[in-house]
Amino acid sequence: MTTILVVDDSETIRIQLKTDLTKENYQVIEAYNGLNGLEMLHQNEDIELIICDVNMPEMDGLSMCEEIHKEEKFNTIPIIMLTTQCSSDMKKRGKENGVIAWITKPHKPKTLLGGIKKILSR
Ligand SMILES: [Mg+2]
Repeated sequence: MTTILVVDDSETIRIQLKTDLTKENYQVIEAYNGLNGLEMLHQNEDIELIICDVNMPEMDGLSMCEEIHKEEKFNTIPIIMLTTQCSSDMKKRGKENGVIAWITKPHKPKTLLGGIKKILSR
């Protein structure tokens, strides 16, 4: 079973993603901000994909990606950004730090699930 880390400060979004992903037989680990996301990453060795929000308290999603990118152990894990943000500067910063897909909220579950499948089959 593929394990996916979902990092979002909105509980509503986390529940929605967990519901959608669990239906597709993915195992979901949740984190409520970037710092918590890093903690979860260190505690769970089998995370194969990260879905991440940008705007979060304490540590935002892009800062979390930068931290992940510094660690050899984690910097090959693909990251999907799922956010209301869409500035090209942010996308560029993401791309430099492991973000391989950028999906704008509100998203269609089908689009996200299709993207996940594509990324995991590479
Ligand atoms: Mg947020």
